[in-house]
Amino acid sequence: SSIFAAVEMAPRDPILGLNEAYNADTRATKVNLGVGVYYDDNGKIPLLAAVKTAERTRLETMPPRGYQPIEGPAAYDQAVQKLLFGADSELLAAGRVVTAQALGGTGALKIGADFLKRLNPAAKVYISDPSWENHRALFESAGFEVENYPYYDAETRGVNFAGMKSFLQGLPAGSIIVLHACCHNPTGADLSDAQWVEVVEVCREKGLVPFLDMAYQGFADGIDADAVAVRLFSTSGLQFFVSSSFSKSFSLYGERVGALSVVTASKEESARVLSQLKRVIRTNYSNPPIHGGAVVAAVLSNPELRQLWEDELAGMRDRIRAMRTGLVEQLKAKGVAQDFSFVAAQRGMFSYTGLSAAQVETLKNDFGIYAVSTGRICLAALNSGNIGYVAESIAQVVK
Ligand code: PLP
Repeated sequence: SSIFAAVEMAPRDPILGLNEAYNADTRATKVNLGVGVYYDDNGKIPLLAAVKTAERTRLETMPPRGYQPIEGPAAYDQAVQKLLFGADSELLAAGRVVTAQALGGTGALKIGADFLKRLNPAAKVYISDPSWENHRALFESAGFEVENYPYYDAETRGVNFAGMKSFLQGLPAGSIIVLHACCHNPTGADLSDAQWVEVVEVCREKGLVPFLDMAYQGFADGIDADAVAVRLFSTSGLQFFVSSSFSKSFSLYGERVGALSVVTASKEESARVLSQLKRVIRTNYSNPPIHGGAVVAAVLSNPELRQLWEDELAGMRDRIRAMRTGLVEQLKAKGVAQDFSFVAAQRGMFSYTGLSAAQVETLKNDFGIYAVSTGRICLAALNSGNIGYVAESIAQVVK
């Protein structure tokens, strides 16, 4: 018999299933709000002008395709560090940050998880309730036990900060805490700056290991404003991890461009940590691909392209915000009594709308509008052509 005879079918990815159902839907008015990518006002994934220019220049020079350093090129890693920690960061000057290019934010999380498992195999990992659906699977596949910490409060549609804080205070030293640095996926509910200060303090008091996941830098308030959590941890004297991604901020999803940064206690410690990260990378995929990282590094290091990118990023941020306020206003205008103003206060691409699984099902069946059964919608999938129809449909479903 086949060596695969006993292989069971893995559970289907719920969001991929949603995409398949959407693609098979023949209604012209259908809208897919279940996605996790930014679409422009024409409903297309943008190719940023800054990226296009950098790619053109790069391809004109026809560079050779040798192997990259295991941790990626210094130009890329340093550009990432400046974005996350700030160009004038004392940590960077002191050599206390090591960065390795990674296969998107996902790859960065996995390198960090594998390294942490070697460092402290008995530690548990804590993720927000709810969290990005891959967090749990990813840390479990690195061998960790994963539990939730309280996060979302369905009543206030914000963060249950008191619950979160007291839970963190009860954890044993060495516990690994995965924190969404900004634009929480899936809820859109972020901590305030003052709450971040408190989280940093709890991590210090209790000896917790913070792992910041920064997949949406620039999507809420701006590049530096969105890095507030990273900056606060930076001045705390603690050691911590940051996974970051250019999938959204450069619209480079399929190029798989991200990075893992680890803040250590000293330059000497950095050298040892980097040597271990390189071991993890070497035994997984040896070294990262060239193109996406080279394009990002080129844009970030060229003042004109950098300005162009910042403008384009601001354009994406502003468009999402306009869709948030537009949806709130249109629901109101269509006579919906329920207060949806929280949608405008949430940040990033996603919103937990509070729509029930049954309402989401009705939206799909009766209106061809696809959302995640938890009520999560992607605001970046709204545009001037479909927002009226979506608001009208939601209005009918909630009335
Ligand atoms: N972390 C969070 C919170 C995310 O939402 C995502 C993507 O949706 C990622 C990480 C992974 O990003 P990437 O596509 O760069 O692997």
